[in-house]
Amino acid sequence: MILTENTRKLHGYLARFSETGILNQIGGKSVSARDGRTFENRSPVDESFICNVAQGNAADIDTAAAAAKSAFPAWRDIAATERKNILHRIADGIEARAEEIALCECWDTGQALRFMSKAALRGAANFRFFADKALSARDGQTLPSPTLINMTTRLPIGPVGVITPWNTPFMLSTWKIAPALAAGCTVVHKPAEFSPLTARILMEIAEESGLPPGVWNLVNGLGEDAGKALTEHPDIRAIAFVGESKTGSMIMKQGADTLKRVHFELGGKNPVIVFEDADLDRALDAAIFMIFSLNGERCTSSSRLLVQETIADDFLAKMVSRINAIKVGHPLDPTTEIGPLIHKTHFDKVCSYFDIAKQDGATIAAGGHAIDQPGYYVRPTLFTAASNDMRIAQEEIFGPVLTSITFADEAEALRIANDTPYGLTAYVWTNDITRALRITNELEAGMIWVNSANVRHLPTPFGGVKASGIGRDGGDWSFDFYMEQKHIGIATGNDKIPRLGA
Ligand code: NAD
Repeated sequence: MILTENTRKLHGYLARFSETGILNQIGGKSVSARDGRTFENRSPVDESFICNVAQGNAADIDTAAAAAKSAFPAWRDIAATERKNILHRIADGIEARAEEIALCECWDTGQALRFMSKAALRGAANFRFFADKALSARDGQTLPSPTLINMTTRLPIGPVGVITPWNTPFMLSTWKIAPALAAGCTVVHKPAEFSPLTARILMEIAEESGLPPGVWNLVNGLGEDAGKALTEHPDIRAIAFVGESKTGSMIMKQGADTLKRVHFELGGKNPVIVFEDADLDRALDAAIFMIFSLNGERCTSSSRLLVQETIADDFLAKMVSRINAIKVGHPLDPTTEIGPLIHKTHFDKVCSYFDIAKQDGATIAAGGHAIDQPGYYVRPTLFTAASNDMRIAQEEIFGPVLTSITFADEAEALRIANDTPYGLTAYVWTNDITRALRITNELEAGMIWVNSANVRHLPTPFGGVKASGIGRDGGDWSFDFYMEQKHIGIATGNDKIPRLGA
């Protein structure tokens, strides 16, 4: 019943996209790509056609960068309270259209509605958080010395490019764009080609909320074309990018000629370490949630389970029965826990690891196969008897697939946890506080949760080390990226200036 009702509502929301397609938004105007090209957007749920999307390229990026450049001085200089009010109105608009956003996001990405309705509201919370911070964005310090009054102030860096991925694209777009606008930057956003619907809705909300034309421009297109042009554009001062580590590496090269500042949120192969003294029921809940929610298409997913060998048999047996009970199904059904993967290429990649696991000598304890129906559905999977040198333990699979490895003691757990190119998050389960402190000190990860799943608190820093990223978002850290520090020293009159030629 609810599925039918949600499907009816979804088609109501999608109707206008099937008529006009998705257009770019540049300088406050909805426009086709300059060469008129489009690409098709299809749903991973049943491969059905959703709409055409304007396929921007370097010429469209150029127009958008010019719009962002020309809108920059006025947006930089607008009163901070006005900036704050506009960002709050965007949050209001998101909340008012949360159902539409959630249903469209599910249809575009295959993510389950139970998670996407929260993701839409998290987008509003991101805007509210940075709206309030807009008032203090320029604040600096006074650092007096005997001869000078030294002051620092912060200024927005200028027009920035924001490039986002297809996993939770709405929430991630707000996470990047809200602080950029709060800082006083103007934006050119290039969303992922596989999930363009909610970026368009978000843009409409922003302009309806009174955001001046050109402050936020949207150019759809392919990564190697529009995305690349954005990273190379001389008027774009910085690139905030969320996506794969190898794409981050490409962007760094592409941006080198224009000395682009970059902020990268990249991939992960995050360990969840379960010691024998932990609260094992809570650890089991968290380990399952952190890999199988959001289809496992989540940068912070706990994709490597490191479990102490004394408790492994029992812990894994319980895990298998829970995994086998996970409901895979239609994303608009509110009881669904895992929906289809984003697209065929990604589905093929995830499925390829079922064979790779067997070839490398691991055991498939749960799942390990696709579901035979239209759409890109796979059963949630657990690999056991794995070692950390296997591909299933080293590579980011980015699906509902968990690799489990046993360890004997704390030293071995730490060695395995750190033995990966990535360093985004880690999760530690122990009731021994001194062990928790020791191990969190040694773990190579940008974010660590002890006896918890991943709980975001917006004032805290978010980001990774090693191949998982550069820079931090959240709190005031976002402004370190979107703003420049300026130092001003004013002499108090008694400083001695060296005299040459006197
Ligand atoms: P992706 O790197 O393939 O694409 C991300 C974006 O980059 C897309 O918009 C794409 O069009 C664009 N792009 C591709 N090539 C480009 C180029 N040469 N120049 C400029 N732009 C280019 O990533 P994806 O497959 O969309 O997303 C999944 C990845 O994102 C995973 O690795 C995941 O871990 C990562 N991710 C990280 C975080 C984090 O916070 N660390 C959050 C979400 C996702």
